[in-house]
Amino acid sequence: MADRYFVESPIAGSAAQLVGHDAHHLAHVMRAKAGAEVTLFDGSGAEFAARVERVGRSEIELTVLERREVDHESAVQITLGVALPKGDRSRWLVEKATELGLARLVPLLTERGNQRVSPSAIEKLRRAVIEASKQCGRNRLMEITEPLALSQYLAAAPASHVRLIAHPTSAPKTAPGTVSEKWRQEPFSLAVGPEGGFTEAEVAQAAEHGWTALDLGPRILRVETAALALAAIIQSNIAENGARNRF
Ligand code: SAM
Repeated sequence: MADRYFVESPIAGSAAQLVGHDAHHLAHVMRAKAGAEVTLFDGSGAEFAARVERVGRSEIELTVLERREVDHESAVQITLGVALPKGDRSRWLVEKATELGLARLVPLLTERGNQRVSPSAIEKLRRAVIEASKQCGRNRLMEITEPLALSQYLAAAPASHVRLIAHPTSAPKTAPGTVSEKWRQEPFSLAVGPEGGFTEAEVAQAAEHGWTALDLGPRILRVETAALALAAIIQSNIAENGARNRF
């Protein structure tokens, strides 16, 4: 895929401007000159063919040549609530969730996990979404919301969503038929817990709000593995059920 550049403000007319990291990359790494053609996106869903007009010290002025509606979004709308793992593991999770086409990621504050996620950490993760979108061709950014207490997230998820909370259990599993029947619908809201897991009280609270607890098999998965596996299973299930044929 050709180099793609992210424009911070929505592209409306025939002019666009690149600033910051993307302007630096195009000017100093790619050594672009006036006349060079590039692809821009602004996170709104379309991409734009554009021509460089002027390379400034810290900004690049471009003319928009063409707007293209290029849809690389997943057919399944998934919101992932997740207790973020530490440091680089969160960045990795966000990168892969973006590639998989998730619509939204909600950092969860849970009893055994983080009680706070700093604004700068959220900002870095939003930057990671942009970088992953450049690479994978998404023109709509996966939203990263402000952190939310698990109780608020569980209560606020719309009843029209299929709501699944990942929780390893030795109890008899939810009948697969019941779950897969639900998986024919969408959108989905998911909850994945911290390294220490959800407490039984948290899982009980989820049930009170109409969430289904889901066991992902006999091994304990790390947070990232559980989140990404669950999202991929849902997408493949929807595709297999013939509801849609695109992940
Ligand atoms: N000792 C913790 C427990 O028993 O819950 C393990 C937590 S696991 C490292 C982190 C999160 O990933 C869990 O809270 C759960 O949401 C999800 N997870 C990991 N393995 C799972 C499995 N086999 N089934 C369902 N969820 C799982």
